[in-house]
Amino acid sequence: MNLILFGPPAAGKGTQAKRLVEQRGMVQLSTGDMLRAAIASGSELGQKVKGVLDRGELVTDEIVIALIEERLPEAEAAGGAIFDGFPRTVPQAQALDAILAKRGQKIDSVLRLKVDEPALIERISKRFAEQGRPDDNPEVFVTRLAAYNAQTAPLLPYYREQGKLTELDGMASVETVAASIDAALSVVA
Ligand code: AMP
Repeated sequence: MNLILFGPPAAGKGTQAKRLVEQRGMVQLSTGDMLRAAIASGSELGQKVKGVLDRGELVTDEIVIALIEERLPEAEAAGGAIFDGFPRTVPQAQALDAILAKRGQKIDSVLRLKVDEPALIERISKRFAEQGRPDDNPEVFVTRLAAYNAQTAPLLPYYREQGKLTELDGMASVETVAASIDAALSVVA
């Protein structure tokens, strides 16, 4: 099963993805994690994208599509992928559908975690204080939210039209969100 966890930054996608990995043995494919690993390693790609992440903007579609494509065989072997933070633009979603189709695969479900902006801002200031991730600083976070609203939210109709979108209350506790994810997935083949 291939699943997209969809929502703005700090909606809880990473937390829920990690639980699904533990409980279902699926592979989490977080383009944010992959990009941060590239930056930490000092690779050519890392050097190229560092400024973009620091500003809270999106890297190019080509970069993230290539990162995802590289990891698909591993996810297939594990029985499925949890896409976390990808796709973030309509062209990324179209590319993902095409790449999966070529491999005889598809997206089975898109779970949207709905969290309102004041709650996101509160969560992110807490995470910034605890972890100090540079792009969690309040000014950069405004840019990340704007990128979500302008470039990522338009994906909602894309998946709604495909009949794949389930909307969940991401304001609830981690356990309650987890239960609603399990309930949504129980009806997916
Ligand atoms: P995240 O950890 O998912 O919030 O991603 C952190 C940052 O990585 C984002 O603010 C973007 O700069 C970049 N990024 C991650 N995933 C993507 C994506 N699918 N498309 C473009 N940029 C991305």
